[in-house]
Amino acid sequence: MYLPVKVPLQEIRDPFLEEKSLHVFVKREDLIHEKISGNKWRKLVYNLQYAKAQQFSTLVTFGGAFSNHIAATAAAGKEFGFKTIGVIRGEEYLPLNSTLHYASACGMEFRYVNRSAYREKSSREFQEKYLSDIQDYYLIPEGGTNELAVQGCEEILADMELDFDVVCCACGTGGTISGLINSLKPHQKVIGFPALKGAGFLAEEIDKYVRNSQWSLNLDYHFGGYAKVNENLIDFVNRFKVKHKIPLDPIYTGKMMFGLWDLIEKDYFRRGSTIIVVHTGGLQGIVGMNERLKNKGLQIL
Ligand SMILES: *Cc1c(COP(=O)(O)O)cnc(C)c1O
Repeated sequence: MYLPVKVPLQEIRDPFLEEKSLHVFVKREDLIHEKISGNKWRKLVYNLQYAKAQQFSTLVTFGGAFSNHIAATAAAGKEFGFKTIGVIRGEEYLPLNSTLHYASACGMEFRYVNRSAYREKSSREFQEKYLSDIQDYYLIPEGGTNELAVQGCEEILADMELDFDVVCCACGTGGTISGLINSLKPHQKVIGFPALKGAGFLAEEIDKYVRNSQWSLNLDYHFGGYAKVNENLIDFVNRFKVKHKIPLDPIYTGKMMFGLWDLIEKDYFRRGSTIIVVHTGGLQGIVGMNERLKNKGLQIL
């Protein structure tokens, strides 16, 4: 399964960056596929290949009702001929929100579990209780992170001809940053921007997968927690799109880019540095976020 497109590298031109003597390029992984976008494609590709080779007919995975990973797995199942079942955290959503509506249109079947049961989803008891009636399924963890996912993310920078100093990426479960870390040359490093509050567990998770220590996490730009946003962030995302023609999602890439711009402003980077920003996608979530923002009078353009 090859990439459907060659992923463009887009330079950001801005007097602000010139003044700081920095070169910033965005790896537009969001353009890989409308719904299997960005890192979710990378994380799924070797898992799908494995599941096909082992002749599994069904993919089972987990996520919240707005999850990019749920949308991506549903789309991938349709495209590559798997039945898909999504275990969704929380009560049944009716009418379906845009993410679940899309996943359902791709053929995904849902099983809703309450939040306390959901927390135990990796246990054998959970699987016996909720999944035992499903024939020969291949289980993809929440967020899609496993060894094969990390292997896929090691290819994000594989076609990079440009020499660079720093890579920035948004983090959830840490699979994407782990792949990036493993693909670095000795003089390069990665900065991860967790979208979750209290992401202390994340470093430990990343350590399970990586083969060097050329990375750090910046915990300052979660905006109050996962899926939490404020007017400042929405305003930044909107202005960024108008100015640079790059849409950002408010949950992951918007927070990362906000953080990066703030660090640049504070002269965090050595003059002359070249920075690669991985656009991990996630744009499918904007419609759902806008539904939630309506009552605050905010909107993502
Ligand atoms: C899922 C996701 C991430 C987080 O990736 P992890 O591998 O879980 O750290 C980052 N950005 C976007 C847009 C995502 O959808």
